[in-house]
Amino acid sequence: MSVDDSTRREINKIVERILRDSSLEPPIDINEILAFLKLHRDFYSLDEPGLLKKFAHRIQIGTNKAINVIRDKVKLAALWLPEETRILVDESQPKPKQLWASFHDTVHTVLPWHRDFFLGDTAQTLEPEYQDSLEEEANYGASALMFGGERFSTAAADTVPCWDSICELQRLHKKSYTTTFRRYIEHSHKVPLAGLISVPWWKRSADPNQPRLKHFIVSRQFLLGFPNISAPTLLAMVRGNTRPTKFGSAGEFTFSLTNIRGESVEFIGEAFTNQHELMTLFVPSALRRSIH
Ligand SMILES: [Zn+2]
Repeated sequence: MSVDDSTRREINKIVERILRDSSLEPPIDINEILAFLKLHRDFYSLDEPGLLKKFAHRIQIGTNKAINVIRDKVKLAALWLPEETRILVDESQPKPKQLWASFHDTVHTVLPWHRDFFLGDTAQTLEPEYQDSLEEEANYGASALMFGGERFSTAAADTVPCWDSICELQRLHKKSYTTTFRRYIEHSHKVPLAGLISVPWWKRSADPNQPRLKHFIVSRQFLLGFPNISAPTLLAMVRGNTRPTKFGSAGEFTFSLTNIRGESVEFIGEAFTNQHELMTLFVPSALRRSIH
């Protein structure tokens, strides 16, 4: 399930308005966004019963229920208390995840239909599918807000689609490589781009049952032009064409994919690792040459 076009437009409008009214420019600092929106951010730890009690008191429910609420949400690493204009972030999470969770919950507070959901308990809002769609909308908005909305797309569309450009944007926006990579694929050139995020094949996984493939991201043009290309096909290509690397470039290779019209199109795969993840960008070769 993904966010539909009219909802995307609505979220973009709200994000652009916040950016305009706050006069904030990239790199977008979460503290300045929180200050502009008059939101408070606290950190909680599941290991500290004291903090949890304070939180339970705040939302006036029993500690047990508070624990359940937090456990349910823990994979998102943050909570929003609408009646208090306050968001709570799990401090045991790694820093990039805390930052993502902070932007995510900030977006819940600025989308009016989310406020209705978090304050109310109507039959519709109890549907788990409805809640999932709100989470996707908050993620969509979090990425837009942290990268300065349209500002990112305009600048990114002016770059050569390769990892050098993504790294330059990452330095400018001061966000993680992973979030910058994802934003670049979906919001830069209006061309077929794809990206694969996987656990590096040369790293021993802590959990052998954990799949190596983490995310498969495609631009709209890739989805329309190459609907039959699956992530496992690309992952096998990455496995055969990359080399163990601590940080940075992990290999570049060319290969062909068949598009929806049955034509063969040559692509460049370019892999980069931030130590924890192997991120491979797929760009049509002809496009990369023409944009150079
Ligand atoms: Zn959420």
